[in-house]
Amino acid sequence: MLQSFRRALVDFFFPPLCLVCKRPLASYEKAFLCDCCTADITFIDSPLCCTCGIQFKSRAGDDHLCGNCLESPPRFDRARAAGVYDGTLRKAIQLFKYRGGLLFAKPLGQLLAEHGRRFLNVGALDLIVPVPLHRRRLRQRGYNQSLELARHMGLCWNIAVAPEWLVRNRATPQQTTLSRRERSRNVRGAFAWKGPALSGKRVVLVDDVYTSGATANECAGVLKKSGAGTVEVLTLAHTQ
Ligand SMILES: [Zn+2]
Ligand SMILES: [Zn+2]
Repeated sequence: MLQSFRRALVDFFFPPLCLVCKRPLASYEKAFLCDCCTADITFIDSPLCCTCGIQFKSRAGDDHLCGNCLESPPRFDRARAAGVYDGTLRKAIQLFKYRGGLLFAKPLGQLLAEHGRRFLNVGALDLIVPVPLHRRRLRQRGYNQSLELARHMGLCWNIAVAPEWLVRNRATPQQTTLSRRERSRNVRGAFAWKGPALSGKRVVLVDDVYTSGATANECAGVLKKSGAGTVEVLTLAHTQ
């Protein structure tokens, strides 16, 4: 009683704000985004690529393999993302990564946990592995966004999170201007597994954005070489 009175008082003087547009949230709105910002998220749905999870522009037909996955099948079993890298989701991810936005870790981690359930058999997973940052980037940012997401997902799903067992040996230049082939060359040999042998474990690799799949592919190769039975990839967003 006292607790809820105190809560109401705090909400009156400091109404919770939408984390993206900063508008005060109405009491019926979701915990971190206003309805307007939520409406600006394209959640991924079929038809999509059965392997990399990209949502096809054409909204008719069944899931099938995309051209990229047909041409060079990735080393992970499948990848899925909660939404398209666009609108509110892109803004939230940028705020999360580039402006010390640790406030975003919990709501985005929960969103990812919720959407992961749409695509993955969560009950069958053994371990959550975040994509690592290089030491230098980690020092600049102060936290690894993928590890923060993984931690909150681990709590929601009650699954162990690999602390810092997958490591990035060398800093890779920003990939934004590189072609697909250059991206995969750029990350080759950049990762190593320092954890215990994965002996058949079912692993889910977590990252914020899936762009060309080069990072996910390279990490999956390392995880499989270390014994992982299956490697699925889960990201907040997929570029189109
Ligand atoms: Zn908003
Ligand atoms: Zn694909």
